[in-house]
Amino acid sequence: MTVASVRGLNPDFSDPALHAEGQYIGGRWLPGGGIPVVDPSTGAILAEVPDASVEQGLAAVDAAHAAAASWRATPARQRSEILRRWFDLMKEHAEELAVLISRENGKALADARGEVAYAAEFFRWYAEEATRIPGEFRTAPSGAQRILVDHEPIGIALLITPWNFPAAMATRKIGPALAAGCTVILKPASETPLTAFAMARLGEEAGVPPGVVNVLTTTRPGPVVSAILADPRVRKLSFTGSTPVGRGLLAEAAKSVVSCSMELGGNAPFLVFDDADLDAALDGAMVAKMRNAGEACTAANRFYVQDGIHDAFVEGLTRRMAALKVGPGTDPATQCGPMITRKAVQKIDRLVSDAVAQGARVRTGGVTLGGDGFFYPPTVLDHVPRDAEIAREEIFGPVAAIYRVADEAEAIQLANATEYGLAAYVYTSDLARALRVGRSLESGMVALNRGLMSDPAAPFGGVKESGLGREGGTTGILEFMEAKYYALEF
Ligand code: NAP
Repeated sequence: MTVASVRGLNPDFSDPALHAEGQYIGGRWLPGGGIPVVDPSTGAILAEVPDASVEQGLAAVDAAHAAAASWRATPARQRSEILRRWFDLMKEHAEELAVLISRENGKALADARGEVAYAAEFFRWYAEEATRIPGEFRTAPSGAQRILVDHEPIGIALLITPWNFPAAMATRKIGPALAAGCTVILKPASETPLTAFAMARLGEEAGVPPGVVNVLTTTRPGPVVSAILADPRVRKLSFTGSTPVGRGLLAEAAKSVVSCSMELGGNAPFLVFDDADLDAALDGAMVAKMRNAGEACTAANRFYVQDGIHDAFVEGLTRRMAALKVGPGTDPATQCGPMITRKAVQKIDRLVSDAVAQGARVRTGGVTLGGDGFFYPPTVLDHVPRDAEIAREEIFGPVAAIYRVADEAEAIQLANATEYGLAAYVYTSDLARALRVGRSLESGMVALNRGLMSDPAAPFGGVKESGLGREGGTTGILEFMEAKYYALEF
């Protein structure tokens, strides 16, 4: 592997072990260009990566197929050790990976470092899970037979990831897929492909055999992905991204009845009751809102705060948000980096302007920052009308919209008034209330008195239009396996 070979990659990014060249198919790096990667802090082009054709997409399927039989037959212990080495290499190159993520995604270095640590843990977790794939043996209730259940790798998996966690969304899929014995094709988001290529480079060094992991970037995801899904050798689609794109991909996958795992959009409610510890709720709110500058599917989107604590919560959150330092992601002092694109800033601005036009009050922020980078300031709104667009859409930015509620019933009713159901947060000092509210919330995950829920050892995923299936935890590996039942006569 040559150094400095992602075309035009800025020399600030100095670790040769992470440099990669072009598409990664069948263990070969195929040079090319066509997709500019932009630094959201400056608007400057950082690098250019290749633009895969449909033919290259199908070549990736060929490569994954050629490697499939031997990877499936590789003992679990050996697959585990490769994943473990990949984890070790990510830790070894953590700082360089964090800088790369920060440069192409814009997130503050502290967030990028957190992401690398989180991402690497999926490899460690699935290195461990690879050796513990469950099976089952029972006697049928009728006594007529014995039931043996084995789990087999599902086959070639297509993994599609978004730009907001360029490392973690990839490892959350690659880890369980490889542990299960599947070979994969990863299509990262066009905005943040450099992290994916750097990760593949480390995978190569960790001993991942050629063809087991293939990575391609394209400006034509529709046709390339359709062609891959239409190939009967591909048996799994694992997608993380927006609900509209996920819906389209489910329809596409239906044509060849491909198994789908879908991690889609969110509209997380953050409930604060009068009996909550105010400081703890504010600490949690800052994490739930401002991790990744609000560009997270789990980001608190709607703050429902009970009457008695409402004013103190608004004051406290406003003070904390106003004190955050906005700047380029790679500046160590930065706490809130830029948004991913100018279009993202325009969307946030539209949602805030609409809320304000309908009566919301701006407590801090609320005005787009100029300049070449894609910045939006930390913003707090109160008196937000409950039916404003900002209550229905993912904000995906550093804006906290606060709504006053009278009681538990009203908070629950408003929290559930969305087609999404990914994450929810509850702050109360009453355990019985916490569990009662948690049971009433229509979401796949509930954080009780915590602002962060993501954990490689826990099942991550949503209900309603936030998705299908779970990633991480002990069940994440089963998303890449098929149960095979043997009926035994003895
Ligand atoms: P997106 O626009 O849906 O894109 C996600 C991925 O899908 C990208 O790789 C994109 O490629 C690809 N894609 C776009 N159109 C496609 C098509 N027609 N066929 C096949 N692939 C296609 O989402 P995003 O803006 O990157 O990410 C933000 C969204 O992801 C938010 O809604 C967020 O909530 C969600 N998300 C969910 C989770 C979760 O775990 N539930 C985690 C993180 C993010 P290109 O980049 O080349 O267009």
